[in-house]
Amino acid sequence: MNLWENELKKRLQRIETAGCYRQLHPVEGAVGSALTRNGKKLINLSSNNYLGFAGLKEVQDGARQALERGGSSTASRLIVGTDEATVNLEKEIAAWKGKEAALLFGSGFLANIGVLSSLLRRGDAVFSDELNHASIIDGIRLSHAERYRYRHRDMGQLEQQLVDAETRGIQHKLIVSDSVFSMDGDEAPLLQLIELKKKYGAALILDEAHASGVWGAEGAGLAHHYGVADEVDLLMGTFSKAFGAYGAYVAGERVWIDYLINSARSFIYTTALPPATIGTIAAALEVVRSAEERRCMLKQKADWFRTHLRERGWETAGSTTQIIPLLIGSSERAMKVSQQLIDEGILAVAIRPPTVPAGRARLRFSLMATHTEEELEHVVKVLARMSVPSSI
Ligand SMILES: *Cc1c(COP(=O)(O)O)cnc(C)c1O
Repeated sequence: MNLWENELKKRLQRIETAGCYRQLHPVEGAVGSALTRNGKKLINLSSNNYLGFAGLKEVQDGARQALERGGSSTASRLIVGTDEATVNLEKEIAAWKGKEAALLFGSGFLANIGVLSSLLRRGDAVFSDELNHASIIDGIRLSHAERYRYRHRDMGQLEQQLVDAETRGIQHKLIVSDSVFSMDGDEAPLLQLIELKKKYGAALILDEAHASGVWGAEGAGLAHHYGVADEVDLLMGTFSKAFGAYGAYVAGERVWIDYLINSARSFIYTTALPPATIGTIAAALEVVRSAEERRCMLKQKADWFRTHLRERGWETAGSTTQIIPLLIGSSERAMKVSQQLIDEGILAVAIRPPTVPAGRARLRFSLMATHTEEELEHVVKVLARMSVPSSI
């Protein structure tokens, strides 16, 4: 074996020793509330398809019709990758968000790294919740701004950091946060974030990946739910979760979007989303906006499930949403509990470091509006028989 292969083997062994080795597991039928893995049917509590729209005929038809325009957009947006359907979709997204303009990105990951790395320059300061998504962290890493990381939801510490930046004479301050946190299922303190952003003249970007389609009127997001969307400078979100599609958006006032078109490298130097994906998103946007009933079902199911877990004394972090963690502690133990659930026909993937902090490994339950009562009752019954640590 050559030098590199030896080194990679060693690195992988270290990952394995830490109980953090990752493997791919092919599944079938992931768009449903139950899927098949290794020939075994499992209740699917691990997808982001919160409203069940990934399997909806109307959404799939959107893709089928658009396929007639070809398999590829053939170029980046600024070359010949912008067609009428794309422009119309961006207008609709802007209207849905109540902003002047919107811009599509290839994915949420590309949106966050492009937006943050282009807005933030040397001499600017960025303030980021420690539990923000990896794509936000990487976007910040790509910038040359001063970085402040505040403890999860700790507005006192954020204010201290804003004061510190002010004292140092930093002019352009930018706060960035998930609105619903992907691994804890809790909410950013939006009202306080807005208060602080105003007090210190900072900008605010919210990542609504897990809230888009789920929270607020017409599923516009958590900022809309709390009636503060006007105060948020950029609302980012993805179509890969509740929309059951792929791709991402950023919405804001015209000047923000024009700037991104001119400077976000993950927008400029990549091929535009293909027609089928534009068609899927457009169809999904229509059904998402009118999906009050499914949103309501999802919330009821999530509340019911979380209440059951808490009544047993299990820790579900600050979850108030469709994402419900069950904190376990060590990676080994989380993997073991996850395997025990698989044996009982339940798929709830173990989330381990570095995705979550050390000692905070967990099972992450993602509820769907389409989970049946029998499915959820089975999960609760199985969990009741298991010995999960009541505190970690
Ligand atoms: C999933 C997610 C992303 C990335 O979105 P993709 O479209 O899957 O690339 C970004 N931010 C948050 C908070 C997410 O949960």
